[in-house]
Amino acid sequence: MKVAFTTLGCRVNQYESEAMTEKFIKEGYEVVPYDKYSDVYVINTCSVTNTGDKKSRQMISRARRLNPDAVIAVVGCYSQIAPNEVSNIEGVDVVLGTRNKGEIVYWVNRAREEREQIVEVSDVLRNTEFEELNIEEYQDKTRAFLKIQDGCNRFCSYCLIPFARGAVCSKDPEKIVQEVKELASNNFKEIILSGIHIASYGLDLDGDWNLVKILQIIEDIDGIERVRIGSIDPTFFTEGVIEKLSSLKKLCPHFHLSLQSGCDETLKRMNRRYTTEEYRNIVKSLRNNINDASITTDIIVGFPGETDEEFEITYKFLEEIKLSKMHVFKFSPRKGTKAEKMSDQVDGKIKDIRSSKLIELDKKNEMEFMNQFINRSMNVLFEQEYSSIEGFYEGYTPNYIKVISKAYQDLSGGIFEVRLSKVEEGYIIGEIL
Ligand code: SF4
Repeated sequence: MKVAFTTLGCRVNQYESEAMTEKFIKEGYEVVPYDKYSDVYVINTCSVTNTGDKKSRQMISRARRLNPDAVIAVVGCYSQIAPNEVSNIEGVDVVLGTRNKGEIVYWVNRAREEREQIVEVSDVLRNTEFEELNIEEYQDKTRAFLKIQDGCNRFCSYCLIPFARGAVCSKDPEKIVQEVKELASNNFKEIILSGIHIASYGLDLDGDWNLVKILQIIEDIDGIERVRIGSIDPTFFTEGVIEKLSSLKKLCPHFHLSLQSGCDETLKRMNRRYTTEEYRNIVKSLRNNINDASITTDIIVGFPGETDEEFEITYKFLEEIKLSKMHVFKFSPRKGTKAEKMSDQVDGKIKDIRSSKLIELDKKNEMEFMNQFINRSMNVLFEQEYSSIEGFYEGYTPNYIKVISKAYQDLSGGIFEVRLSKVEEGYIIGEIL
């Protein structure tokens, strides 16, 4: 039997798709590309924006065209948020939410045998149990994403994730340690701890478990050379936390702190839990206490009520704190959120202008940040051949600068000392020492 997967959205979805794929392989399925004929199609959906839902529907009709008799399973955030809408889409056989993805093979086989539609969407706001969905054979042999947390209790006014992913739940710390040891024994050099709101790791566990404690334990596990943390809420970084992190040798000094806006009034309407002053101090403290720290972020432009004055405040703030990379998003009202119902929605053309302005600023800040490292040598974990220039390999420094280097052997999976020599747009060229 053939199975084909398509995955929309975040790293956690990518992780879960890889784990689900493994379960099909164990049941004897052959994995085929999504644009090929298959007996089963699985769409792991995202619902962070309206386009996420639209893309999911496009993937469903594509599967239907490729094989009208296939079993089509639609899982993840879109199914969790709108199970009726999804189950009413022609040709959908299995609807699973964001929990019980681990049972995907069982439900697909049931749907095939009974030729009945199956809708299994649990109440994630009540079900706070962390679903163990592990990857045993990682596709990527260099760095491994490890999902350690699910759910979010923050309810930012523009976001549906708490309704899709449910309440905060954390992976058993002993299971994390066990998996990290397995990854180390399989020669993984780098692991990335990820989740929906990893700053909340441990809130639901007995005892004083938190992300810092997990990082301290991983620090003593031999074989793993680098640990990264995924996108994280700025409020996690108290002075005490930063002090503890600064003593960790394996922790990569790259922190993706989602700011979303540089204006306090806008932050209030977003229901974000920090002020720009607090954010400024966190950035300063990270830079003072952690060498070569790279701080990157996400920014939403055109949030309802964002006047020219408010945008100017955001622009000035970002000009001042010079983050090394900014991902700029134009606000898109998400059905069912408070922000969707807010007055003073911003015109699309204005969003375009503001977005281009920030993208220009980002290019300037990123180049400035990378230029600080020219003529320095840094270790780079090479991942693969660099597709644009033959004979070059690409990888990342601990502070997440992309580096390409010429080589006469396959560098993939290896950590090499590199002298950084020339900044290009988005990466640095360096020589292997
Ligand atoms: S912190 Fe806010 S934006 Fe992030 S997942 Fe939670 S509710 Fe959404």
